[in-house]
Amino acid sequence: MLNIVLFGPPGAGKGTQAQRMTDATGLPQVSTGDMLRAAVKAQTEVGLEAKKYMDAGALVPDQVIIDLIKERVKHADAQNGVMFDGFPRTVPQAEALAEIVEVSIVLAIDVPDERIVERICGRYSCGNCGDVFHDTFNPLPKAGCGCSTFLEKRRADDNEETVTARLEAYHRQTSPLADYYQNAGLLTVVDGDRDIDLITEDLLKALN
Ligand code: AMP
Repeated sequence: MLNIVLFGPPGAGKGTQAQRMTDATGLPQVSTGDMLRAAVKAQTEVGLEAKKYMDAGALVPDQVIIDLIKERVKHADAQNGVMFDGFPRTVPQAEALAEIVEVSIVLAIDVPDERIVERICGRYSCGNCGDVFHDTFNPLPKAGCGCSTFLEKRRADDNEETVTARLEAYHRQTSPLADYYQNAGLLTVVDGDRDIDLITEDLLKALN
């Protein structure tokens, strides 16, 4: 059983790296952000509640998130472990996670604040396959994305105003988790302000 937590500020590249590591490890990517966006789109009760927090760049209440995770880890694809992307984001979430599964390693992707806004504001993905790109740093290749038809998708909360609130939430509520996992002897920090391939290489090395 291998349970990986990908940790870092918004725009650090957690989603991109999680996708690549899923290919390498066979573990499913469990992104609470993706789960919430799906719930918003489907207009479920959770989605309707979460939307107001997400639009404001604030964190969704812990219990909503913990309930989502409890259900998600019961799925058949999670039986050998998972790669958590964007979860946990608070100490209470981490404490709840410890009751659900044993975390094997926490991989922190470190990116300075001044790089976050430009990284988030230029990003987009393919609405079909989920591959992530960036206007400047990782443009869609001429050959297209991983699927036959590229469908450009930009997130509603990837704008300058919301990014500032998301960064604030990160520093106030999420960054204390670095000490939490450091004290537990689980934290490995990787420099995320580099070429995407080099970051993947370091993350995979940390798993060996
Ligand atoms: P992400 O896709 O991880 O950047 O998440 C987008 C938004 O979803 C965040 O700004 C939060 O509003 C919400 N969210 C995602 N994951 C969590 C979490 N673990 N705890 C609380 N809110 C979350």
